[in-house]
Amino acid sequence: MDTNKIKADALVVGGGIAGMQSALDLADQGYQVVLVEKNPSIGGKMIQLSKVFPTLDCCSCITTPKMSAVANHANIQTLTYCEVQSIDDADGHFVAQVLKKPRYVNEDDCTGCRQCEYVCPIDVQSAFDLNMVARRAIRVPFSTAVPQLAVLDMDNCILCGKCAKACPADAIDYTQTAQEIELKIDTVILATGFETTPINAKKEYGAGELHNVIDGLMMERLLAPTGPYARVLRPGDGKEPESIAYIQCAGSRDETLGVPYCSRVCCMYAIKQAMLIAGALPMADITIYYMDIRAFGKGYDQFYQNAQAMGIEFVKGKVAKITEDENQNPVVRVELIDEGSQVVERTHDMIVLSVGMVPHYNPEPVYEVEVGKYGFVKSPFPNISSTETIRSGIFATGAATAPMDIVDSITSASAAASGAAAHLESVQARNQGANL
Ligand SMILES: Cc1cc2nc3c(=O)[nH]c(=O)nc-3n(C[C@H](O)[C@H](O)[C@H](O)COP(=O)(O)OP(=O)(O)OC[C@H]3O[C@@H](n4cnc5c(N)ncnc54)[C@H](O)[C@@H]3O)c2cc1C
Ligand code: SF4
Ligand code: SF4
Repeated sequence: MDTNKIKADALVVGGGIAGMQSALDLADQGYQVVLVEKNPSIGGKMIQLSKVFPTLDCCSCITTPKMSAVANHANIQTLTYCEVQSIDDADGHFVAQVLKKPRYVNEDDCTGCRQCEYVCPIDVQSAFDLNMVARRAIRVPFSTAVPQLAVLDMDNCILCGKCAKACPADAIDYTQTAQEIELKIDTVILATGFETTPINAKKEYGAGELHNVIDGLMMERLLAPTGPYARVLRPGDGKEPESIAYIQCAGSRDETLGVPYCSRVCCMYAIKQAMLIAGALPMADITIYYMDIRAFGKGYDQFYQNAQAMGIEFVKGKVAKITEDENQNPVVRVELIDEGSQVVERTHDMIVLSVGMVPHYNPEPVYEVEVGKYGFVKSPFPNISSTETIRSGIFATGAATAPMDIVDSITSASAAASGAAAHLESVQARNQGANL
């Protein structure tokens, strides 16, 4: 295995909105930054979203310029499809070993032309579109991916050779192996983000088996202009839904799931999606079953009131169970709190579970930082919203530290970059002192 060595000031782990913001803040101050992302493209979860609450700006229009600013910044080196294996202290610096997974495509030669993708005969479910459509065994991850490079999925490839024959740049290399990269840096920012609570976690809600019960991220893809069907359709049978319901706290505030905390974004994204559906399907009935609506940020309560004024029905109720009828229509059994706690059954065409946020990655073994009871990176100073960790020089930001929305992720990313810059200044002062 080849080992490349890179010396920089800072390592940022995770190329979502938080990691990109931290990297840009440090790079703009003149620091050399290496950004390591485990996926083949940077962008994080935000690149999968449709529009953002509360402004309803197009998500891709915000994220894509950031991705390109990162890729084109002279002080940022982006390593995609890479994972940090270890991080050790060495002479007052950190030394990180990074594993670069094989793309089976030569990065210097690939132009992102997609000729390989068009000829590949193997269809695999697309994780980017939450398995609602297929992708090819070789593909450019998505239309605005950064970098625009193909990646071959060797687990599903049948080595038929069609892509290599079609590639005008002769970029495909079926024999490519993993590479090791050694980084010498002085500070690290962890921005490894979140996953949604799994759709199959709750058996009372169908355990992921019901045809037309989807989760909030799937609805984001259905509403996105680049989504799987370019419109909102039921994945079960392709029918346009006329009645759509949201179940709030479907993956949060639930001891049985091990997620007793509020995920903070689910009320707001459900309201946002309901408003977008009202625009896309003006004749559809939209209901949100909730226990409390937590509209906590600036302008969020007004956003909630706007949704009510648009005719979206908010029902204070506890959904005990979801089943489906013979036409694959989901049926909710709900206790209506404001109507004397009577229990009713209501049938909808489609249900969206407002799933919550859990940490994506446990950095404890590799980075020797501390994580809290629910797996989010813990600060020794939680009462002052610090981005510090227990390991000096290592900072944490964004949804890796707690459930948070985009505005808070960006604010915390800039705070982490300030902390990292202060740390770099102290390291430089110490080194200058040592050289006197
Ligand atoms: C359905 C839904 C809708 C939402 N809608 C909105 C909205 O409208 N407005 C809003 O403000 N917020 C919204 N949010 C919240 C928003 O998605 C988050 O606030 C934001 O994505 C957090 O950014 P992040 O960079 O911290 O994490 P992420 O976006 O999760 O990025 C983390 C990155 O780190 C990478 N990574 C993870 N582990 C490693 C590792 N070990 N090594 C290298 N890389 C790693 C991941 O691949 C990923 O690219 C929504 C969330 C959901 C679930
Ligand atoms: S691998 Fe070749 S065919 Fe595929 S996108 Fe890259 S240059 Fe185009
Ligand atoms: S070699 Fe693999 S990736 Fe290439 S076209 Fe054949 S199946 Fe697809």
